[in-house]
Amino acid sequence: MNHLFIANWKMNLSLKEAEVLCREIDLLRDSKSDIIICSPELYILPLKEKFSSICFANQNVSEIKENFGAYTGETSAYMLAQQGIKYAIIGHSERRKLFGETNETVKAKAENCLQAGLTPIICLGEDSINRKKGDYLEFIGEQILHSISKTDKEVIIAYEPIWSIGTGVVPTSEQIKEVARYIGKIIEEHGLLENGFKLVYGGSVSSENIRDILSVAEISGVLIGKASLDREEFFKIFQGE
Ligand code: PEP
Repeated sequence: MNHLFIANWKMNLSLKEAEVLCREIDLLRDSKSDIIICSPELYILPLKEKFSSICFANQNVSEIKENFGAYTGETSAYMLAQQGIKYAIIGHSERRKLFGETNETVKAKAENCLQAGLTPIICLGEDSINRKKGDYLEFIGEQILHSISKTDKEVIIAYEPIWSIGTGVVPTSEQIKEVARYIGKIIEEHGLLENGFKLVYGGSVSSENIRDILSVAEISGVLIGKASLDREEFFKIFQGE
């Protein structure tokens, strides 16, 4: 199975810098790895035009049900799909924390993606308080039940413990495995994703820990933040898998 490497550039890079990085990714990537680049929305179309063999994703979609309308600043999943974009990150912890997104918002956004033919990459994961208190599995279970609807379409779930994002602290492979199995169990028990799902891990992924993370059988790939902006480190990650 090819591993999936999702690069989340967040609100970083100039268009020129993004083009340079894409050129290098285009030259150096191998056929064993599937790469999805979540670039700033404004850059997706010019990049897609130049690098037709790279897969680009948006970092968000509107929660509004309509495809068009008087919703200043919004981009519908339908609009993205019309431009040939196939994926969108939904419910990243930064959006939950800084922009007040709830599980219900995430659910609406994911449904809009599925309706439009986009694959949602739904992010979830506990914070350090849940982890210390020991109720992290219940917390994740609640996130799943309130943010994922029943579907037979393709869905990617990104397990991203908030205490690991941008901190350099990474869960052990045993800890990842425990959560991965729990996510699978809840989804199966509630019959949510009829055709299965891909589970990726995100949080301080680096060339040092990539082997360990991908040694967990339930993990199909990784979501990479900071390290995806560093050309050398990004290559080391997907070459060192
Ligand atoms: C993220 O923000 O989704 C993320 C995984 O970031 P980092 O790799 O920088 O921890």
